[in-house]
Amino acid sequence: MPDIHTRPHPDATVAAALDRLPRERLPELLRRIPKAELHIHIEGSLEPELIFSLAARNGVALPYDSVEALRAAYAFSDLQSFLDIYYAGASVLLHEADFHDMAWAYLQRAAADGVRRAEIFFDPQTHTERGVPIGTVIAGLSAALTKARAELGVDADLILCFLRHLSEEAAFETLDAALPYRDHFIGIGLDSSERGHPPSKFERVFARGRALGLHVVAHAGEEGPPAYIIEALDLLQTERIDHGVRCVDDPALVARLAAERMPLTVCPLSNVKLCVYPTMAEHKLPALLDAGLCATINSDDPAYFGGYMNQNWLDTFAALPQLGAREAWQLAANSFEAAFADADRKAAWRAEVDRVVLEVAG
Ligand SMILES: [Zn+2]
Repeated sequence: MPDIHTRPHPDATVAAALDRLPRERLPELLRRIPKAELHIHIEGSLEPELIFSLAARNGVALPYDSVEALRAAYAFSDLQSFLDIYYAGASVLLHEADFHDMAWAYLQRAAADGVRRAEIFFDPQTHTERGVPIGTVIAGLSAALTKARAELGVDADLILCFLRHLSEEAAFETLDAALPYRDHFIGIGLDSSERGHPPSKFERVFARGRALGLHVVAHAGEEGPPAYIIEALDLLQTERIDHGVRCVDDPALVARLAAERMPLTVCPLSNVKLCVYPTMAEHKLPALLDAGLCATINSDDPAYFGGYMNQNWLDTFAALPQLGAREAWQLAANSFEAAFADADRKAAWRAEVDRVVLEVAG
C-alpha cells in the first residue's frame, strides 16, 4: 500500500472551509490560490504576436503570412507535429533582449495567475544550433527573472533541458558550455521527442549533473511507456517526473510513485491538445490524486496548448466533477512540496494558500 500519510493535509479550520466552499466559488478559489509552476518551457510561452514582432525586429522570415495563419497551424496530432512548429517559432530568438522579452511576458502572466514560484525550462540547444551563444540565452532569461522577483513577487529559477532527440554527447557539450553560468540555473531536465529516446540514453550526463549539485528532472511517460518512468527514476535518479501520466498503465509503479511522494508535473491542456487523452473529461488526474501521488497542474507550452496556469486549473476542474475545493488545496500544496525551494519559503507559500482558502470560503 502507498504511504498516504506523508501527503500534506489541511488543518481542521482549513478543511472545514474547503468543505463549506460552494461549487460556484470554486473558479475564484482556483484563480486566486497561490501555486507553483514546475513544468513550463519558456520557448513554449512565445505567443504568435510576439513571434511576429520579434521576426520583424530581427529581420527573420517566417513560413506563415500572419498571426492568424500561425495560430491556425496549432492543430496538432501528436508531440512531433507540435515540435515542428515549436522549433520554427523559436527561430526568431536571436538577441539577449528577445529572451528577456519572452520570459518577461510569461512571468507577468504567471503573476496574474497566482504563481508564486516558477521553475522554468529552457532548451539551449534550440538556440546554440542556430548560432546563438548560450550566454546570450541565459543572460536574457536571467534578467527577466531578477526583475520578476523585484517587481512581480514571483520567485523563479531556470532548469536547463537537453533535447533527447539529439545525442548524449551533444548534451555533455551543452552542459559544459553552460558551466560558466552555473549560478544562473538550478537543475537539468530532458525534453523533446520522447518515443525512441529513453532516459537510459542520458544516464551519464545526468550523473555528471548530479555530481555538480544540480537538481534533476526528466520528461517521461507522456507518450512513452511506464518503463521510461522507471528508467528516469532508477537510472537518472530524477527528483520529479515531468508528465508521467502513463504510470496508470502500471499499478506497481503508481504504488511506488505514491510511496516515494515522487512529484508528477501534469499538464492537462497539453495532454488533450497532443491527444494523450481524447478529452479533458478522460484525464487521469483524479485517479493520480486518489492514489496519493504528488501530482501538480502545469501549463507546459501555454502559447501552443490553449492556456496558462489558471486556464489549466479552470478547464481541468470544469471537466472533472470529482475535483473540488479539497483537491484544489491538495494540488496547490503538492506544487509547493515539489518545488526546489527552501523550507522557509515553502512554509510561507503554504500559509498563504490557507489564508486564501479562508478568505474565499468566507
Ligand atoms: Zn514539457
